[in-house]
Amino acid sequence: MKDKHKTYVTSPALPDLDEFIPFLEKIWQTKQLTNNGPFHQQLEKEMADYLGVKYVSLFANGTLSLLTALQVLKITGEVITTPYSFVATTHALWWNKIKPVFVDVDPVYGNLDPERIEKAITPQTTAILPVHVYGNPCRMERIQKIADTYGLKVIYDAAHAFGNKYKGQSILNWGDLSTLSFHATKPFTTMEGGAIICHDEKTKQRIDYLKNFGFADEATVMAPGINSKMNEMQAALGLLQLQHHQANIKKRQQIADIYDNELNDVKGIFLLDHPTELENYNNSYFPIFVDEEKYGRSRDELYFSLKKEGIYGRRYFYPLISDFPPYRGLGSPKSENLPNAKRLSNRVICLPIYSGLDKKDIKRIINLIKK
Ligand SMILES: *Cc1c(COP(=O)(O)O)cnc(C)c1O
Repeated sequence: MKDKHKTYVTSPALPDLDEFIPFLEKIWQTKQLTNNGPFHQQLEKEMADYLGVKYVSLFANGTLSLLTALQVLKITGEVITTPYSFVATTHALWWNKIKPVFVDVDPVYGNLDPERIEKAITPQTTAILPVHVYGNPCRMERIQKIADTYGLKVIYDAAHAFGNKYKGQSILNWGDLSTLSFHATKPFTTMEGGAIICHDEKTKQRIDYLKNFGFADEATVMAPGINSKMNEMQAALGLLQLQHHQANIKKRQQIADIYDNELNDVKGIFLLDHPTELENYNNSYFPIFVDEEKYGRSRDELYFSLKKEGIYGRRYFYPLISDFPPYRGLGSPKSENLPNAKRLSNRVICLPIYSGLDKKDIKRIINLIKK
């Protein structure tokens, strides 16, 4: 029997291999494979310009950029964060021996709800770690105000927000630090990869020491650093990806528009809203939210029926991070006490979206949802 045609939630946008070969030849010639090589330096500069931020420090992956960001700011004790994210957000706290304190999200965007942050602050609280879920901006003005009042740091997990702008400037300019992921599943990918965005040269310097074992110079170690450097192959790919990124985003927007038009009046299917000040949206994900009563089928019924037809959506983010045993064991709030996060988590399916997604497949997905 012929294998059924499979459509996954994403598929990476890659440049032509021909474009990449000259970069590889250069690496083979110079034999500079890592340690702040020429492509690494060039990508840090070009990416900062492209994003409209002051400083980019490249990392081997997004999780290591989160781990390191917490070290840079010497975060300890308790950190207020969201249960509605990819597990790596909280794992980064765990690896730094920091206690995650989960606070509920807003019901519309699924971002950490600032109105609930203040109640969760204790004498041990040192920072807030929100996520720009699906690339929608958190309520950054309000979060900053709380952080300033209580003397807390703010680190944004901006893994979904590469290139997204809010009120005319990069979302990444908010907070003390923001972290990015260039994993294969993200719209901008270097296969694996990540970055920390910061706003002053001294911080950039400390980040760069910490990602290279803490070496400040040949004979000085300023702190117990780690090895989380991006290599030259990743950086070379990143330079090419940057050239193609705007075209990639445009194609993703066209697909999102089709989904929007076709699904927005399906009874019981709700689509994600965006603030009007959001620009250059990357459509990292296309989540739909299934209201079982109105739709007539549960989220999981739809999810598994799509799967049977070879459509591999993903339930991002289900279960909630606070429900995973290591975090439940920490005395995290039960999901009943995180009602907005629980509701989104029980309803969400992220539909396939990527620049190479076939129009016929989009139609098929839409028809299966409408059925
Ligand atoms: C992808 C992702 C990460 C992890 O990034 P990696 O590069 O895979 O380590 C962290 N946080 C969020 C919200 C993500 O989506």
